[in-house]
Amino acid sequence: MSGAYDLDRQGLAELLADQPSYRVAQVWRGLYRGLRRPGEMTDLPPGLRDRLEEALPPALSQLGSSVADGGDTRKWLWALADGARVETVLMHYRDRSTACVSSQAGCAMDCSFCATGQSGFSRQLSSGEIVEQVVAASRESREAGRRLTNVVFMGMGEPLANYDRVWSAVTRIHGELGLSARHLTISTVGIAPGVRRLAGEALPVNLAVSLHAASDELRDRLVPINRRYPLGTLLSACRHYLAAKGRRLSFEWALIDGVNDTADDADALAGIARQLGAHVNLIPLNPTPGYPRIGSPPSVVSSFAGRLRATGVNVTLRRNRGTDIDAACGQLASRVASGRAGPDQLAPDPTAPGRAGPGPTAG
Ligand code: SF4
Repeated sequence: MSGAYDLDRQGLAELLADQPSYRVAQVWRGLYRGLRRPGEMTDLPPGLRDRLEEALPPALSQLGSSVADGGDTRKWLWALADGARVETVLMHYRDRSTACVSSQAGCAMDCSFCATGQSGFSRQLSSGEIVEQVVAASRESREAGRRLTNVVFMGMGEPLANYDRVWSAVTRIHGELGLSARHLTISTVGIAPGVRRLAGEALPVNLAVSLHAASDELRDRLVPINRRYPLGTLLSACRHYLAAKGRRLSFEWALIDGVNDTADDADALAGIARQLGAHVNLIPLNPTPGYPRIGSPPSVVSSFAGRLRATGVNVTLRRNRGTDIDAACGQLASRVASGRAGPDQLAPDPTAPGRAGPGPTAG
């Protein structure tokens, strides 16, 4: 892996050893503040531009891109240098712009309802491949007259199963791209030791736990990692994180029709959320080809949310942003891989109603 964003400053200095020393800062600034490819750095001599462009090829090649929600949601499908595919989603809201990035190509967590889980694990992303997704989203935001403010690690993959590279990307996104730690969110489907490790890091990022079930019996079925780190172990790690970092914890809950959307489920979730002062994000499941269930209907979603609120839990109902462009975790890549859509077919009908929603249904 040798993309521009995989190099640290020392690596860049070695690459520019034959140049005046100020070039290192100049190129670094061009990459991180200017969000420019070396070939676009017109303040460099043309020969050096060409050399750097060749030495530091883009890590991501765009295979497809689609837009929904009147331009407020953009999703990219990228090919990596070895052909692996990942996705990035950019969502503009009234007061912020959020990039949802992938941390792995595929995912080994095997959550039953998830398109990425259904397509298996390919490989870990390098920190540069993660950072470059954020750079792409930043560029796109800038071109739209917006500023990228938030990054959530809720695309393809389980971030805490690629801990070192994800954390290296987090420090780069914070230190070099200038996003505040409180605007960075790491999600996990329940790797408890990773949560404890996060608690020891210097940057207080937000933690989002994809809970989806409040009993071990159901969670074992939906989210197999629960057999290794059952709820008691996971929630104890969350408590530790809260005590160490004082950041808000959120629980993600994909509402699945007839599976985890009953009043009892809501009460069990409320009990856990209240104990930890956690915010709950509800999102109706995006259907996936390999799972025979659909998202809960709106009336059920609304009574589930109402029941949580009645006990004092803070709840956000997340819209399925970009459902019409397959924004749920892994869906775009799996459709293209299965031949049900080619990248050239990904441009949405601009007149289609935007049913929006984060890429994030992931772990
Ligand atoms: S929901 Fe998240 S952790 Fe589970 S298989 Fe999908 S990407 Fe992996």
